[in-house]
Amino acid sequence: MKPNKEIFIEQLPKVELHAHINGSLSNETLCKLSQLKYGTDAKHTEKYHLLTKMDLIDAFEKFKYAHELTDTPEAVALATECVIRDFSDDNVVYVELRSTPRSTMKMTKDEYIMAVIDTILKMKSQLPSILVKLIVSINRRESIESAEENGSLASKYAKLHPNIVCGVDLSGDPASKKFSDFEPILAKARETGLKLALHCGEIDDQDEISAMLKFGMHRLGHGTFIKGENEEILLKNNEIALECCLTSNLLCGVVPTYSDHHFWRFYKNGHPVVICTDDFGVFSTSLSKELQIASDTFNLSSDDLIKLSRGAIDCSFASDDEKPIVHGKIDSFAKDAIGF
Ligand SMILES: [Zn+2]
Repeated sequence: MKPNKEIFIEQLPKVELHAHINGSLSNETLCKLSQLKYGTDAKHTEKYHLLTKMDLIDAFEKFKYAHELTDTPEAVALATECVIRDFSDDNVVYVELRSTPRSTMKMTKDEYIMAVIDTILKMKSQLPSILVKLIVSINRRESIESAEENGSLASKYAKLHPNIVCGVDLSGDPASKKFSDFEPILAKARETGLKLALHCGEIDDQDEISAMLKFGMHRLGHGTFIKGENEEILLKNNEIALECCLTSNLLCGVVPTYSDHHFWRFYKNGHPVVICTDDFGVFSTSLSKELQIASDTFNLSSDDLIKLSRGAIDCSFASDDEKPIVHGKIDSFAKDAIGF
């Protein structure tokens, strides 16, 4: 029998704010995508074989494979649907997915983004219990021209689907280009009403962290290397919530153990912090697992976990009409959960 805390966390209505679509493909989803691309031949490939045995493919290989398999609008739609289903199965009631629009031989960036949005719309009727939004990513590895294109696409689709496209993300290799290269694009996106959820402080570059904090953002992803003066600046600014991805940071080797994770420093200081998965497919985790880890490591009570869920929806890019709906779900769970 599962311990009470585990059942409690599984049933808790959860809020996910930092999840990349391509990194959130479970082995089962990758197998489905592999079959979509290669038909029955997929079953004979080495990768397919490895995927059916959990965790045998390393993280980097999984990312590469996910990329390779999502090269048509049909595959992007299937990937998006599976990710939404997996989150919903974990009792996630609100999720902001993020993804970098990609063009391939078989797809334009417009088609990529439309495939994601159309799937979110389709899933609305199939899985009404989960509210799904999209954050358009800009990858630091790409050219500035490509980043500008993604920024324009975010604004274009936010106008067409204001209930779905809610923000812009800056992600990818933090060492590949400077933040200042992307500043004008992000400033423009912010002017058009898009929210900013930026990866920041993934490497120890205090000058860049300082520049990013000065520029401002609505939420900050990771923040692993925010130290000293920058930490003080962030702690003073309660407007910038921190997205913490425990297992992702541990497996990427940027924090030595769960108990060393900076989540605790910010959490105990009352800073808005949200537990997120980052790439649950790649790191073989789930939002329930991450909350369980946080609960075990930092001795969080059931009440603390409910508060984390409530805090997460407050930090989300949901509209003023949508937030009370999610709060209502958490409230009714909290009422029934007495005795856990
Ligand atoms: Zn991320």
